Amino acid sequence: MCGIVGYVGENNATPFLLKGLKRLEYRGYDSSGIAVLGEEIGCVKEVGKIEKLEEEVSKNELKGSIGIGHSRWATHGGVTEENAHPHWDCEKNIFVVHNGIVENYKEIKNKLIKRGHKFVSDTDTEVIAHLIEHFFKGDLESAVKKALRIIKGTYGLVVIAKKDPGKMVAARMFSPLVISVNDKGSFVASDPSAIITHSKKMIFLEDGDVAVIQKDNFVISDIKEKIKEREEVTLDWDIEDSQKNGYPHFMIKEIAEQPESITNSMRGRIVLEEGSAKLGGLELVEEELKNTKKISIIACGTSYYAGITGKYLIEEFSGVPVEVSLASEFRYRKKVIEKDETFIFISQSGETADTLAALQEVKKKDVLTLGIVNAVGSSIARETDAGVYNHAGPEIGVASTKAFTSQVVVLSLIALFLGRQRNLSLEEGKEVANTLLSLPSLVSEILKDDSEIKEVAEKYKDFKNFFFIGRRYGYPASLEGSLKLKEISYIHSEGYPAGELKHGPIALIDESFPTVAICLSNSVYEKMVSNVEEIKARNGRVIVLANRDKKDVKELTEDVIYLPTAPEFVSPVLAVVCFQLFSYYVSVSLGRDPDKPRNLAKSVTVE
Ligand code: GLU
Repeated sequence: MCGIVGYVGENNATPFLLKGLKRLEYRGYDSSGIAVLGEEIGCVKEVGKIEKLEEEVSKNELKGSIGIGHSRWATHGGVTEENAHPHWDCEKNIFVVHNGIVENYKEIKNKLIKRGHKFVSDTDTEVIAHLIEHFFKGDLESAVKKALRIIKGTYGLVVIAKKDPGKMVAARMFSPLVISVNDKGSFVASDPSAIITHSKKMIFLEDGDVAVIQKDNFVISDIKEKIKEREEVTLDWDIEDSQKNGYPHFMIKEIAEQPESITNSMRGRIVLEEGSAKLGGLELVEEELKNTKKISIIACGTSYYAGITGKYLIEEFSGVPVEVSLASEFRYRKKVIEKDETFIFISQSGETADTLAALQEVKKKDVLTLGIVNAVGSSIARETDAGVYNHAGPEIGVASTKAFTSQVVVLSLIALFLGRQRNLSLEEGKEVANTLLSLPSLVSEILKDDSEIKEVAEKYKDFKNFFFIGRRYGYPASLEGSLKLKEISYIHSEGYPAGELKHGPIALIDESFPTVAICLSNSVYEKMVSNVEEIKARNGRVIVLANRDKKDVKELTEDVIYLPTAPEFVSPVLAVVCFQLFSYYVSVSLGRDPDKPRNLAKSVTVE
């Protein structure tokens, strides 16, 4: 999920690796390391900034013409020097850097431990090094391929071996890698920005590719030894363009990444035959969860809206009552905490000051605390009793996009798990699981053609006020849609439960105050249509989010954004993806910078 660089050539690899890692810094990372093969393999790793790694490297004289480097964004195991990459085998022959997640690492690790392998980290990645060692008979490529037949999950990885020098072996499965070659050697990286200053000619690996890279050539094949021809692409990008992978902003890049980030949030966590979810982080507290009588969700901002979605999900699937509170209010409120209550704290960064303070308050009581956090090893992840990581990857855009959808996916998995512990039947569970598995392709459908959304955004960009309304699952989605619009376009906007409009806010409606209404084909469709009629009767303009099967929607308004039909419980994800795009296009057409909205910070570590 984070950064990889590798070099084999005529020069010393070290300066190239450090420079490459610096160019990948924009992605966000928690630790880094390099391994360089000269007479021996020298390896240095550090927690924190690349400067610290540079400092350490300068004391260590790492010289050699082959090397690999990594900036880690932890998924398995805390942020420590031991867990930073590269990882190695027992003999310190094989060194690996890896982006992604090895899903079956526990199983592999246990088998290797029985065979006498000694592990020094808590990561999933370390098993790759030991598994390659298990197969290594002098030929690195064949050992890597044998290991890859066993590994399940996602990887972009680069491996070097002291006993098979002169080459790097790189492999890709759902985690990007790119190669380029010039007269000084061959380069590999997780994104072009790390190597674009050496050559603009790139070869992008595809899923299933294994590349053997030497100083002046490379050969790509699959694990069955079939040679693969990959076209060379010339990138007419500067470094900044390449960091955004060619997208004009990080925000739109991250919106586009959601099919992948949602998949990563679910990876290895759905057990279809059991119609349930398997959440490693909750294994030790399963009994307590079974007995819990109430759940309280505490969060701020976008995470709070994910929390409200979580309330609907958990109550629907498991029947456990859920209360959702804003951390900044909860921390100073008189707390009535019940016996057998479970608290869930949601924070992308895991450092949100208000949420952390609320957690510290709750910890004084004898109740179970869980975290839903994207940043591994962060304060909230450490201080809760157990939890589930989002695995959405680093989010650069200040306005949260892929973190929100991954939070909702994780909450859906928790709801499914709690439901199956209680009254949700196997068949119902399977239906939920199958719907979740279809979510990435439903999101892709929206992303494939967003011209309708762009058109509506441009048409409405000059209005100064907006309502976003919805019912049931549409309610938190409208809150999040409204927040996105304010955050990046600075247009005043309010999210409301549609039924609440008539209790006051409808007084604001006139032709200059448009409403975005979520009218999907579900249990509240007719009610939503009535609300839209009420707005129209007061000359209000309406943008409707609808499914194509509702033909009468066209009679309501000419501004319709269509999204794929799906069960109601996944509609917040689909609606919010549309709202992210709508807000993005409004922001851009007003000439704002959606990546750096004024007055906002990415992780709110102050009260
Ligand atoms: N799963 C690996 C780890 O936690 C790789 C993380 C990354 O992609 O940076 O160490």
